Amino acid sequence: MKITRIETIQLADTPFVLYVRVHTDEGLIGTGDTFMSAEGIAGYIHGRAAPKLLGKDPGQIQRHWTALYDGDAARFGGQGIEVRAISAIDVALWDILGQSVGRPIYELLGGRSRDRLPIYNTCGGPAYGRPPYEAHGRPGPLEDLYTWNTAAEDLAEDLLSEGITAMKIWPFDDIGLRNQGLTISAEELEQGLEPVKRIRRAVGSRMRIMIEGHGFWRLPAAVKIARALEEYDVEWVEDLLLAHDIGAIASLHAQTRVPVLASEYLVTRHQFLPLLEQRAADIIMLDPTWTGGITEAHKIGALADTFGLPVTMHDCTGPFTLLAGVHLALAAPNATYQETVRAYIRTWYQDVVPHSVTIEDGAILPPTAPGIGTSLLPDVLTRRDATVVTSTL
Ligand SMILES: [Mg+2]
Repeated sequence: MKITRIETIQLADTPFVLYVRVHTDEGLIGTGDTFMSAEGIAGYIHGRAAPKLLGKDPGQIQRHWTALYDGDAARFGGQGIEVRAISAIDVALWDILGQSVGRPIYELLGGRSRDRLPIYNTCGGPAYGRPPYEAHGRPGPLEDLYTWNTAAEDLAEDLLSEGITAMKIWPFDDIGLRNQGLTISAEELEQGLEPVKRIRRAVGSRMRIMIEGHGFWRLPAAVKIARALEEYDVEWVEDLLLAHDIGAIASLHAQTRVPVLASEYLVTRHQFLPLLEQRAADIIMLDPTWTGGITEAHKIGALADTFGLPVTMHDCTGPFTLLAGVHLALAAPNATYQETVRAYIRTWYQDVVPHSVTIEDGAILPPTAPGIGTSLLPDVLTRRDATVVTSTL
């Protein structure tokens, strides 16, 4: 089998997402996606990656990964758009491999370590993560962001009624942005704790609560936030700090009893290793289409397992990232959760794929279709807001 064509597809509707399709001479099409700086990633794919891949066997996945990473990414810090491009291509190649042998990807990663994959709901709305930003958090259907900001207890009850027993919110973000992450007053701490208190008052310990920080804080204020959360039994604090300073994360970890999670912002084994060696985090989060694709994420999961830590998969980005995480987390012995955004799965994911995941009682059921388990709907490529770029053999 040979790679004959590589397409990138960007939709104005969700402009940060880049879909990548890899075509073969046997008619199989593998698909992946990645997120942020989509134009730059497409530029790298058509300018550098496609010339190296066209005409090659799509099944030699590690060989292609190494050629692209060693040849390009590692020469520019081993991160950035090159690694996101490699990630999306890698997912597409695993999709082709799975289709070619008639197996879901998790079976090619060693088979299932679990029969159901627990989820939590990241409580954004359908418009979260894409422009216009003024639309974020307005009332409307599935506007979970609005609901937890106004009546977090109602959202907790609603999720529980669906069987979802874990939710992620980011109640300190506005304060962090206002204060440049430098300070937080007692009054502001109380303001940030409000939705957490409402959830605990309404549903007690029936709901697990994850607190997201989006890297908006500096260490002293982050320590205050983590300590203030200690009495509320939160599942973790996530990325209060950006992840480039592992020493700062280690310091936060040493100063609080709240479990510290890090980080979807780290890419490849090379960036996760110091986090693990310094015992700076309790839970390892990775994004399969930021960190190097299924090939690399599988290794990072194994590395975390070597240090005795659980791993959890990020998705607030796209349907193929979600499914890549599902396959990885089904296979990994140490995976805990797959992140999901119900507001995405039930709205714009349905505009681009015929099916993403099946969720029952707060857990994803293993996909049974070969490969990644879904594909782009054909009309996506002819949408008026689509920018499609093609490289051919
Ligand atoms: Mg996050």
